This record gives sequence, structure tokens and C-alpha cells, in this order.
Amino acid sequence: MTSDADITAGKNDKTAESKTGRLFIISAPSGAGKTTLCHALMKHFDGMLYSISYTTREPRKGEKNGVDYHFISKEYFEKQIAEDKWAEWAKVHGNYYGTLAVFLDKAIASGNDILLDIDVEGTKQIIGRYPDSISIFIMPPSLDILRFRMESRGADSREGIERRMINAEREIFQRSIYKHVIINDNLLKAVAELTGIVEMYRKGGRQ
Ligand code: 5GP
Repeated sequence: MTSDADITAGKNDKTAESKTGRLFIISAPSGAGKTTLCHALMKHFDGMLYSISYTTREPRKGEKNGVDYHFISKEYFEKQIAEDKWAEWAKVHGNYYGTLAVFLDKAIASGNDILLDIDVEGTKQIIGRYPDSISIFIMPPSLDILRFRMESRGADSREGIERRMINAEREIFQRSIYKHVIINDNLLKAVAELTGIVEMYRKGGRQ
């Protein structure tokens, strides 16, 4: 994974006459397998930067600050809103999540492709700001399977799961704003589809 410092230093730049980097946005309801798919993508493509989001939610067990998220206070987040520092931000499940504009602009200028794992509201803002972004929506095979996966993960309370299910239905309803939709009914197949889409753009196959 490439760090902020690497971007500043220009490490991983494609070529001297480098073009600007592309933004790949991945969204999915919780439990649709997005984290696994994002990890697979990062492993597959050299020089792909992962955009580490900022959030006001509490870290989950095993999550590291600066790796999974930048965990910040509500006050700090709201200050950045007032100062117009976010390229996009949204309130998801009661917490703020956002992507810093300065990070994205620097990463794009460095020529690296960037992977954003954000929700539908954030996607709309990124598409408005960077219309060439490549957006991909990951669908769970069904809502029942989604609920089952969330329950088996054991990370959320009953109330939390209900809130995530309502949000999932709302997000699935809006999937048509995405350029690509992948159904994750089989992980290997979904990874192959996802890497195939990213490969196509990286080879200049589709603009
Ligand atoms: P979680 O708390 O489960 O890690 O993430 C909850 C939701 O927030 C997921 O749908 C995830 O894609 C979304 N999310 C994570 N980072 C960002 C961000 O920077 N901006 C927006 N808009 N959503 C985000």
C-alpha cells in the first residue's frame, strides 16, 4: 500500500509523461463482502492507492487508526465541514465519514489510481466533483443472505443490524447511478469480475 508520504514524493508514478490518476469508487451495503473485495483489488494492482476515510465512529476490535480509518472527533469533523475540506462526506449509521479533498487532489495529480470505499451519498458527491470516476456497486445475493452475514459477523447489535438493513435497501434502490454492478454470490467470481473491470480502465479500454 502506498502512503501519503509516497504520494508527496511521487513514488509509484506511472511514467514521466504521466496522466492523472483515476478514481475507482466501490460501494455496497454492509455485509455484501466489500472489504474482502477491496483487499483483493489492492493486492492485485500495483500502485493503487487506498483512500483512508475519516470517521467519527469508534474503532472496532482489530481496527487501526491510520490504516482502516482515521478516527477523529465529531468536533474536528464538523470544523472540516465548515472549512470546506471534504471532497465528500456523509452521515452513515449515525456517524460522520469523509474523504479529504487535499488527499484526493494530490493523489490524482501523482498519477496513481485511487480506490474509495464510500457510501452512495458520498459517491454522488464524488461523481459531481470528479465526473470521470469509475463507480462500482456490489450487490449481496439477497437481503436474507445480507442479514444472515451481518448476524454471523456478530459485530453489531440487533438495533444496529436493523439500521444497516434499512440503509442497505435504500442503497440497493439507488444502484443505477453506478457505472457497474457486481453481484457477490460467489467470492472468486466477484473478485474476477471486479479486477476485470478495473483492468479494462487501466488498459485504457473504456473512458
Ligand atoms: P463501516 O462503519 O461499516 O466501516 O462503514 C459504514 C459505511 O460507511 C460503509 O458503507 C462505507 O462504505 C461507508 N464509508 C466509509 N468511509 C466513507 C467515506 O469516507 N465517505 C462516505 N461517504 N462513506 C464512507
